Amino acid sequence: MFTFCPSCASKKINFENGKVFRCPDCGFVYYHNIAAATGCIISVPAADSPGGERLMFLVRGKEPARGKLDLPGGFVDLNEGALEGLYRELQEEIGWTPPVPPGAPLSQVFTLFASFPNIYPYKNITYHTCDLFFSLSAPGLSEKDLHLEEAEIAGVCFLVPDEINYDALAFESTRRAVKAYVER
Ligand SMILES: [Zn+2]
Repeated sequence: MFTFCPSCASKKINFENGKVFRCPDCGFVYYHNIAAATGCIISVPAADSPGGERLMFLVRGKEPARGKLDLPGGFVDLNEGALEGLYRELQEEIGWTPPVPPGAPLSQVFTLFASFPNIYPYKNITYHTCDLFFSLSAPGLSEKDLHLEEAEIAGVCFLVPDEINYDALAFESTRRAVKAYVER
């Protein structure tokens, strides 16, 4: 990632153990830590399948994995908790604000059910993430309630578990999470 030391421009900078840059000339140290990211399975009780449910997937509108299916969510920002980050991402990506009872914590709305590592290549940098997967039931939610972020999202679909093509999912962590959710 760094060819030169960002502090003194030495060419001797080393990358050790897959996580730390050290410059022997000036003592610069930089830990390239993993990033936290969230994903959310939004389930809607299926009117056409008693006891069944449909899960919401987004069609990615940009690289990496453009055209593949993904869950809403994204990187957790600076000074954010995972729940606040997910709440913000849902508003940004799908233009939908999950209903939160007055005074209730977001942990009452989102249920953490799985976490997996992921690799996210973006513009020649490989980001290693710790993905946190939450679920949320949204009775009555449909496409007309959403306003998709055009630059990022190409479409939305609601699938019953039997319709999910796991090869069409964008990321390994998402595949594992959806499987864990469906098999729970
Ligand atoms: Zn240096």
